Amino acid sequence: MATLEEVDVVVVGMGPGGEEVAGRLAEAHLDVVGIDQRLLGGECPYYGCIPSKMMIRAANALAEARRIPGLAGQSQVSPDWGPVAARIRSEATDDWDDKVAVERFEGKGGRFVRGHGKLTGPNTVAVDGREFRARRGIVLNLGTEPALPPIDGLADTPLWTNREAIATTRVPASLLVLGGGAIGAELAQVFARFGARVSVVEAMPHLLPPEEPESGALLEEVFRREGIEVRVAASVVAASHDANGFTLRLESGETLTAEQLLVATGRRLELAAAGLDAIGVDVTARAVTVDARLRVAPGVWAVGDMTGKGAFTHVSMYQAEIVVADILDAPGVPAADYRALPRVTFTDPEIASVGMTQAQARDAGIDVLVGKADLAATSRGWIHGPGNDGFIRLIADAGRRILVGATVIGPSGGEVMSALAVAIHAEVPVDRMLHMMYAYPTFHRGILDALRDLRQPS
Ligand SMILES: Cc1cc2nc3c(=O)[nH]c(=O)nc-3n(C[C@H](O)[C@H](O)[C@H](O)COP(=O)(O)OP(=O)(O)OC[C@H]3O[C@@H](n4cnc5c(N)ncnc54)[C@H](O)[C@@H]3O)c2cc1C
Repeated sequence: MATLEEVDVVVVGMGPGGEEVAGRLAEAHLDVVGIDQRLLGGECPYYGCIPSKMMIRAANALAEARRIPGLAGQSQVSPDWGPVAARIRSEATDDWDDKVAVERFEGKGGRFVRGHGKLTGPNTVAVDGREFRARRGIVLNLGTEPALPPIDGLADTPLWTNREAIATTRVPASLLVLGGGAIGAELAQVFARFGARVSVVEAMPHLLPPEEPESGALLEEVFRREGIEVRVAASVVAASHDANGFTLRLESGETLTAEQLLVATGRRLELAAAGLDAIGVDVTARAVTVDARLRVAPGVWAVGDMTGKGAFTHVSMYQAEIVVADILDAPGVPAADYRALPRVTFTDPEIASVGMTQAQARDAGIDVLVGKADLAATSRGWIHGPGNDGFIRLIADAGRRILVGATVIGPSGGEVMSALAVAIHAEVPVDRMLHMMYAYPTFHRGILDALRDLRQPS
């Protein structure tokens, strides 16, 4: 029989959002228990955002050095994976970060329990022979696990998910990347720049399927120029592995082979294992339904990837703030608003977007205007030279004369996009934006060119 402990709040899953909720509530002197079956911090600091961006930083430095012949002189730059793997291992290793994260949380007054949490009722959570009853509420931040598509033979192979790709200490001679979304595209470019012969296979007509088709098309062009083979609209029907490596058989009958296979085709929820049926949640759903204050049921909140609002660390953290305010009954924090949700794929060029795509705006019944500026044709793009692929593309509501969506592709595309995120979030009128100053010669000055280009799409 499990011992029952009364606490104020139980947080199940300590990813970025869970850690934020648990830490903030503990700082507010609530009795908080944070539970995680793995590492405190979730996917992002160990196998996601942070180490992948460390790999990208190194790969981009190599690519930039190799561009020197086109910029200023001659360069012979050879990739060396060792220091990159060593830096990731020393600065983002499980033990170090996890230990620090636990100390930080407990320093705020929280209690961390490592183990698998399972809801046993509307306000109770069981974990390894203990049971906690939450007086104020339960917050779920279960995150997602890498998902494998139902391809014949695939699950039997020693494939990589993002976790093995990030932990590797060697670059394979050749790599097949199954899935051309953000994770697949970022890692494909990293390994290619470090010398692997890389092929990306994507079932949809373009890379980065949720983005504007033009974004995927531009990335395909850049990848092909860099020697990365891209197969779009390609369905894989079978996978196998033997002493020579991996083989993928496409629906067309063609086969692709490589030393290593990375599968980046999406993520899955584990709702049944966390006992969410105990609060009436459909455990087969692709996301947990939440209201604008992230409430799932009375006294139960959810944050992060599991809410299906966008699988990004910033979504999880944004939602965390709303949940903290709701639990503390603190005024001044508005309900969730996803109109200006920003997304960045950290390829080179960076592919950043915010708000709606053109198709989403049209489907929402908006009379759309579209404006575009070619980044290479701007003063800064011309100065930049090699590596200046990109564009700024704006989607405006013709009736309200405000922006509802934007894409920025180019060097530091994610940073340039921030100005447009503010414009969409605050509904800054297009006519105000047309009559302000944009520093010369910056990439963001291309926003003015795109605003001046706004017109009905043909
Ligand atoms: C390769 C890669 C690169 C990425 N890059 C970016 C990026 O650049 N920018 C960005 O914004 N996002 C990025 N992401 C996404 C980002 O990692 C996630 O959106 C982020 O981690 C937020 O997830 P989360 O808060 O839902 O929880 P997660 O980080 O998934 O954490 C959930 C936690 O819950 C725990 N858990 C689950 N079930 C239980 C249970 N029953 N009991 C106890 N513990 C449980 C898990 O062990 C885990 O620690 C990337 C992801 C990957 C894989």
